[in-house]
Amino acid sequence: MLEASGARAVPVRRPAELDAVEGLVIPGGESTAMWKLASAFDLFEPVRKRIADGMPAYGSCAGMIMLADRVLDAVPGQETFGGIAMTVRRNAFGRQIDSFEGPIAFDGLDGEDGAEDADSAGTAGTLHGVFIRAPWVEEVGPAVRVTARVTAGPGTGRIVAVRQGALMATSFHPELTRDPRVHGLFVRLVRAAR
Ligand code: GLN
Repeated sequence: MLEASGARAVPVRRPAELDAVEGLVIPGGESTAMWKLASAFDLFEPVRKRIADGMPAYGSCAGMIMLADRVLDAVPGQETFGGIAMTVRRNAFGRQIDSFEGPIAFDGLDGEDGAEDADSAGTAGTLHGVFIRAPWVEEVGPAVRVTARVTAGPGTGRIVAVRQGALMATSFHPELTRDPRVHGLFVRLVRAAR
């Protein structure tokens, strides 16, 4: 997805690999496993520092949880990198069997400028949302721009995409579709942050 948008993609598992990138994608998976691995590989402080220094980051699903300042239904002791002033609820739509797909109206998706400020209206674009034991966003701070909500079906009205400065997060998994626009938006944001 990143390469389809003109970026070079490399895996980041260790602090030295983090030092080499201009932006970080935290994919879906399992936030509790990411927490344990990031601790074991001493990634917590370096990632938090890069985020505080303005490194763009995009988290989908478990990655959204990792970028949240607060998590509901976390396991005891579970930590996140944080950065986005929001409260997310893990597994909010239900169990694995409650996973679903459906259309999402995503604000700013087709805009030319990925770095527009939080007040910009952007353009509405529809994309196919893949939700797998997904979180939703319960609450956002004033600096957070809500870029998508569920419009029909389970969790109607819930916030499923946000943006705060150079940080963005989605409850769903664009990386599991053939539509590169969300990653394209992130790549434009990384270029704008240079
Ligand atoms: N439920 C998972 C978690 O809590 C996220 C699932 C996903 O990334 N698809 O981390």
